[in-house]
Amino acid sequence: MSVDTVEKLFVDELKDLYSAENQITKALPKMAKAATSSELRTAFETHFKETEGQIKRLDRVFEILGKTSSGKTCKGMRGLLEEGAEVMGDTEGEVRDAAMISAAQRVEHYEMAGYGTVRTYAELLGQNEIANLLQQTLDEEGETNKKLTQIASKVNKHAHRHAA
Ligand code: FE
Ligand code: FE
Repeated sequence: MSVDTVEKLFVDELKDLYSAENQITKALPKMAKAATSSELRTAFETHFKETEGQIKRLDRVFEILGKTSSGKTCKGMRGLLEEGAEVMGDTEGEVRDAAMISAAQRVEHYEMAGYGTVRTYAELLGQNEIANLLQQTLDEEGETNKKLTQIASKVNKHAHRHAA
């Protein structure tokens, strides 16, 4: 089926985000478990709970649109999470914390790009309730990214000091 309208592109990108969020819920508990810094662990645990809420928001968006959320795999997120898992296997201790923050910030930026776009489409299509829901998630991703930058300023120093 060809995607020849903004309406179809909108639904397609929402399905992509739905897949991305579901992939993230599988990765975050592993990242929390692997964290050395308790602050980083808490941040991953908090964002796991937020991510579950973001999936519920998307469920609501699909309900409003009368569309199904299934049918797409976000290959971009799959690649980002594969890289994250790879670097987690190659690192340890505080250096692993630094590497996980690096991977997680890539994920947050990817999500921010995706949500910013669909929020804008929702506004264009006059879907104000949906735009509002997507904006809430966009704000959470932005806050998470900022929080990670904050944690990195400490974690990176630890990782550097502990280097052999
Ligand atoms: Fe998310
Ligand atoms: Fe996120």
